[in-house]
Amino acid sequence: MHRPLPAHYLEYALKDIVLIAALYHIFCARGYMLPFHDPTVEDQSVRYLNIHNAPLSADEAFLKSNILPLEVLQAPLETPNRQCDKCCRWLTEQSFLYPDLWRGAMARHMTCKVCFILIARGEIKAQLMAEGKLSSPSKRGVQYSPPPLEPTQQRNSAIEV
Ligand SMILES: [Zn+2]
Repeated sequence: MHRPLPAHYLEYALKDIVLIAALYHIFCARGYMLPFHDPTVEDQSVRYLNIHNAPLSADEAFLKSNILPLEVLQAPLETPNRQCDKCCRWLTEQSFLYPDLWRGAMARHMTCKVCFILIARGEIKAQLMAEGKLSSPSKRGVQYSPPPLEPTQQRNSAIEV
């Protein structure tokens, strides 16, 4: 697979990897997490990259979300046979089976679970914006404005690693 990226994106990704690796080692040393070795990570990475094997255009909001796509962490047990009406990914039946909000019972939908969550999240954000609880949309979506903290609970803007 060939995925050309400009140098500044590669540098950005490299910095992320270095920072995540530093946090990982600190978290393991402090006992916050156990050292991780999962031989399926490569397979998961391949499944993820196969979804994003080319740069996405701005109008592909359902594929550009920050939610991990379905059927990446675990390989599907059957051949994907349904196409989501929002993200257009081919997925297995399990990805379309979730409770119907009106009836409360499990139902098979035309929209995959992730796209359903994205729609619901968008509706919640729109409602919060209408109520003045969100700032204006940013380049990557809508930014949530947390309520101010008490003076004794000021947020730390820097994380020491
Ligand atoms: Zn979808």
